[in-house]
Amino acid sequence: MMKFKCLLCGVEWGDAGATEADISHGYCPSCIRKRYTQRIHQSQLREGYSDCFNRGYNDCGEVSCRFRAACQDDLIGNWKKAIIRRNEPADCEGSIRIV
Ligand SMILES: [Zn+2]
Repeated sequence: MMKFKCLLCGVEWGDAGATEADISHGYCPSCIRKRYTQRIHQSQLREGYSDCFNRGYNDCGEVSCRFRAACQDDLIGNWKKAIIRRNEPADCEGSIRIV
């Protein structure tokens, strides 16, 4: 099994028993939504789709869409459940961390 680590925010998800050698780096759905929504819209339009990504269409029929995992709320929910380590908040040193 693999675990995954977001290059942007550092959150890890997937199999908690995976070793450091089994990490696949990429972007988490949350960061994709935050940073790439506009770029994904352009890419959708270029490929002849509507620019529907992250607009709240949760019963989307495009099951083979490659942006689906970062778009549909139920898939985001599955991802949140699979999170095994949250990113360290680098910008709030000195404050109390609630773990
Ligand atoms: Zn992230």
